[in-house]
Amino acid sequence: LIQLYIPLNFLGVLYREIRQALTDIERMFGLLRTQREVEDAPDALPLQPGPVTLRFEQVGFAYDARRPVLEDVSLEVAPGTTVAVVGHSGAGKSTLSRLLFRFYDVSTGRITLNGTDLRQFTQKSLRRAIGIVPQDTVLFNDSIHYNIQYGRPDASAEEVLAAARAAQLHEFIERLPDGYETRVGERGLKLSGGEKQRVAIARALLKDPPILIFDEATSALDSQTEKAIQSQLEAAARGRTALVIAHRLSTIMNADMIIVMDQGRVAERGTHSELLTQCGIYASMWALQQQEPQQEN
Ligand code: ADP
Ligand code: MG
Repeated sequence: LIQLYIPLNFLGVLYREIRQALTDIERMFGLLRTQREVEDAPDALPLQPGPVTLRFEQVGFAYDARRPVLEDVSLEVAPGTTVAVVGHSGAGKSTLSRLLFRFYDVSTGRITLNGTDLRQFTQKSLRRAIGIVPQDTVLFNDSIHYNIQYGRPDASAEEVLAAARAAQLHEFIERLPDGYETRVGERGLKLSGGEKQRVAIARALLKDPPILIFDEATSALDSQTEKAIQSQLEAAARGRTALVIAHRLSTIMNADMIIVMDQGRVAERGTHSELLTQCGIYASMWALQQQEPQQEN
């Protein structure tokens, strides 16, 4: 046994040393910061496939303990419904999606999926269940095909194509020098903000998850492309648990519930018409956006 123990022990030491070295490298480059912040519970279970009811229960959160970013946020998204979150920049909207994806853990309260605290699920199964179109999409230094297929690595070429079509990206890709094999990212073709956003939309549509989060998913698109994609996004959200963080209120008018965030708190909630009659933040945001000419960017 001793003979076996010594080499095993040596391997253990070696393993720890390698891990430490990797940890140092990560720290050095500030990489995978978010990954290290959150660990699976020892008895974590996979989230079962199927419809998900999502709840934020009195959630509080701070990136820095001295400055709370969310306070007492409660909301529920039932399967087949779309809940929109609106509010001024810095109100804490994107933080909600980061907590749901578990880049960070809540400071107080909890987030539940089908009644179970999401910290009890494996991160892998959690992230598999969530499709997110973030505010800023990062592309891999690889082909545009790879970048879309990343949403679901076992998807067929036809499925990748269909997702690109739905995201109004197909014609653009066809015109690229190497079509779907064109390399994009830092060391390839630089895509505009709107093009990257459409890649992220294609990824999320391809992933086909029970939970969808759109974080200002069309903010970088011109209003014509936005209109074209809007119906695809609405179709994608149908039958799912959808949380839509919106910049332009016209895109979320039909949401089942609209949550208005202000300085980390839920300031108002209701449907579009209910919120208009409240004459509060939502009503004034709406009035402002009605005056604005549709900006092209
Ligand atoms: P929104 O999406 O509504 O514009 P965010 O959720 O991105 O707002 O940010 C809410 C607040 O948290 C802001 O004041 C922002 O500066 C702060 N914040 C966001 N991300 C971080 C971070 N990684 N570290 C520290 N503060 C952050
Ligand atoms: Mg945001």
